[in-house]
Amino acid sequence: MPVKSRLAGAAVAALMASAIGAHAFAAEITPLSDETVETAKAIRDKALESDEAYEILASLTTEVGARLAASPKEVEAQAWAVAKFKELGFDRVWKEPVMVPKWTRVSESASVIAPFAQPLVITALGKSVATPEGGVEAEIAHFATYADLEAAEPEAVEGKIVFISNRMERFRTGAGYGPAVKARSAGASMAASKGALAIIIRSIGTDTHRLPHTGGVTYDEAQPKIAAAALSNPDADQLVRMLGYGEAVTVHVDIQTTMEEPVEMFNVIGEITGRTKPDEAIILGSHLDSWDLGTGAIDDGAGVAITMAAANLIQDFSDQRPYRSIRVVAFAAEELGLIGARQYAEAHKDKDMDLHIIGAESDFGAGPVWALASNVNPASLHVVDKMAAVMGPLGVVRSDRKAGGGPDVGQLARAGMPVMDLMQDGTDYFDLHHTADDTLDKVDPVALRQNVAAWVSFAYIAAEWPGYFR
Ligand SMILES: [Zn+2]
Repeated sequence: MPVKSRLAGAAVAALMASAIGAHAFAAEITPLSDETVETAKAIRDKALESDEAYEILASLTTEVGARLAASPKEVEAQAWAVAKFKELGFDRVWKEPVMVPKWTRVSESASVIAPFAQPLVITALGKSVATPEGGVEAEIAHFATYADLEAAEPEAVEGKIVFISNRMERFRTGAGYGPAVKARSAGASMAASKGALAIIIRSIGTDTHRLPHTGGVTYDEAQPKIAAAALSNPDADQLVRMLGYGEAVTVHVDIQTTMEEPVEMFNVIGEITGRTKPDEAIILGSHLDSWDLGTGAIDDGAGVAITMAAANLIQDFSDQRPYRSIRVVAFAAEELGLIGARQYAEAHKDKDMDLHIIGAESDFGAGPVWALASNVNPASLHVVDKMAAVMGPLGVVRSDRKAGGGPDVGQLARAGMPVMDLMQDGTDYFDLHHTADDTLDKVDPVALRQNVAAWVSFAYIAAEWPGYFR
């Protein structure tokens, strides 16, 4: 048995012991050929000289621009994606339907009435309901965190406008997002459960610019729905200073939005069809929709461009297709709640999820990939280690963290598909995320090439190695 892996002898013994009584040795190790590794290196090096991903990204952000889920712009983006896949010569291009509620931002404004009257810069959170016409005006009930709001007596909140001022911390991994984002996703219903009229939060972002960060709010259907908005970081600081004077601070908030019945959108899929096992596919995921404020360059135009370019480089490299298919999936309506990916997982889970061999997602901006994590069968770890070795010259290290697959592809992981994470440097990602500043000029073309080089290393080896990651 060729053990080209870092599995220690003891681990292999344990693996064999656990396989006793099952198949003879279900986890038998399928070797990865040197030729596959050498070809992966050659495609990787080609990727480092190609600006195709940047050209795709410039095309999407210029010709379509912002593409709010379920809006006419998402429809345009889907037509763009179909045309781009065809132009690049993908073997198969198709769309799978997704039903998406249609939320529209109409207008948003806020101001301090007292003690120091002045306007505030806000943006409505995605899916926020409207305030009554003309807005609401009330005293602020200030909480440092979501947990503080949760612990508050209703008397401290009733009839007021809640303000949560937690500041997101900066990490390369984006680890500050999780703890901070609860104020955005769940703050409205928690505030409403205690009788608040509306909620404004400090933007979930790490910048100091006067640009608020939008993002989805999730309503608890058991609670009244109140309007929710984010203040830019400097505006949140301003409000905190005013509250420091110890007097009541009164604000006016006017948010107008509409929510209409779900409309039919599509996940757009382009495939390089495998030569030996065409029904088996490697999934490269991203999302095509964006928020409406910027042009969705880093979130997630970059992911669309990286995955499209990676598959295209592989098909352009040789006349011979890989052993199995490579499927690039541009999911619909991620920002409104992973809607495209959830419906994809639902549609495929009992049908052909077992033919989804492994997947990964690019949805963390355009910063360089620095680590590779996996969630695969131990008998396939030697393949993952080899992918990491091919990515080594790109500055990528092997992570022992368990991969989650990202927000969208993670939905397929829950349905049983093995996944990998090509972890990107997200140090600056949350400076731009969900703001008007998410535009093409923020993307470094060199970092984008590096991403594609890492993605071809993963995708080519996964598609060419005949073993299984489950
Ligand atoms: Zn995204």
